[in-house]
Amino acid sequence: MALVVQKFGGTSVGDAERIRAVADHVARTRRQGQDVVVVVSAMGKTTDELLRLASDVSGTRPPRELDMLLTSGERVSMALLCMALADLGVDAVSFTGSQAGIITDSAHTRAKILEVRGDRLREALAEGRVPVVAGFQGVSADRDVTTLGRGGSDTTAVALAAALEAESCEIYTDVTGVFTADPRIVPKARRLGRVSFEEMLEISASGGRVLVLRSVEFARNHHVPLHVRSSFTWEPGTWVVEEDESMEQAVVTAVTHDTSEAKITVTGVPDRPGLAARLFRTLADRSVNVDMIVQNTSHEGTTDISFTVPRVDLDTSVQLAGALATEIGAGEVLADAGIAKVSLVGAGMRSHPGISATMFETLADEGINIEMISTSSIRITCVVRADLVEQAVQALHTAFGLDGT
Ligand code: ADP
Ligand code: ASP
Ligand code: MG
Repeated sequence: MALVVQKFGGTSVGDAERIRAVADHVARTRRQGQDVVVVVSAMGKTTDELLRLASDVSGTRPPRELDMLLTSGERVSMALLCMALADLGVDAVSFTGSQAGIITDSAHTRAKILEVRGDRLREALAEGRVPVVAGFQGVSADRDVTTLGRGGSDTTAVALAAALEAESCEIYTDVTGVFTADPRIVPKARRLGRVSFEEMLEISASGGRVLVLRSVEFARNHHVPLHVRSSFTWEPGTWVVEEDESMEQAVVTAVTHDTSEAKITVTGVPDRPGLAARLFRTLADRSVNVDMIVQNTSHEGTTDISFTVPRVDLDTSVQLAGALATEIGAGEVLADAGIAKVSLVGAGMRSHPGISATMFETLADEGINIEMISTSSIRITCVVRADLVEQAVQALHTAFGLDGT
């Protein structure tokens, strides 16, 4: 029997009624003759609430205990969904990440999946049951419970689809697919019918949070077709698949934005080989994911280096950069939490010159100043003031002809 993995995000299992609607859909899929493995997120805003509770209780928040706390959210959803399925006569059985055999490294709160054993899921399927797995979690080689980072249930679903050789992985969420921009900010955004893994990687990496980046990497590496769709309307959504000739090559496929980063500038860095290396090694050793980097040309033997980091890592990064700046005789370390990134993504960009020029002109017409720029072969990103980023997204969406009716 063909196997499909169905993942339901937080809003999709947000209350009792939603959980019963999801159970109905799983039961319907079974009646249509498919085997199903279900992956669930925590209900609604549970993960945010648990994080807030942790902050209210503790300033230390040891990462191991944080993971123990956060994984409880997904446990609630999986058990409730199995109960709703039982009411419909579907024999379902819930599994934590650990029980499902999702083995990770031991980097608490941002663990990476090393291996998916999945024996108990295969046994359950062989017995004709529906396994319901808690997303976002695994177990480390030291037998501690871990989490995969925010949005990690997408990664759980794709990893299981790959390990169990599912035909596809369906990601059910609160929008009807992947859009040309976040539909909450651009009401005229259009749903994409199909998008290539390559474009989806850039969309996720530049802030289109509908699929978490690591899940797209996993899907591409293991050739798992993804279907992003709505658990409210159940209509067909967006397929994320291998690129092929039949795919329409829009110059710009999507406009994305990201408000989760902050900018750090180290001024007056002596212009000597090895200093940038030391700065970024120090940050890397503390697992800070540096994104954009700009170094000015040397002026009188010193240079300024600016870079962006996740806002959650801003304080740590400033401390580390400050200590190093003193050591190497650099100037000040300036922190700026008021930035955002806006990006254009499109495979057609490779063969169309002038996209950056149009992007910069559009931002200029809106009076929006560009603070940093970076590009890949199919993406252009500008750093702008955070309070202007929505205006920037809307203007670019219109300028590149993406507005629907
Ligand atoms: P879930 O809880 O189901 O995982 P998420 O909140 O993680 O849902 O992701 C869905 C949200 O992603 C949507 O509500 C939408 O606001 C946002 N989003 C951002 N960019 C896009 C995009 N390009 N297309 C679709 N949704 C997007
Ligand atoms: N519940 C987790 C989060 O909110 C994981 C997920 O929903 O994918 O980040
Ligand atoms: Mg998500």
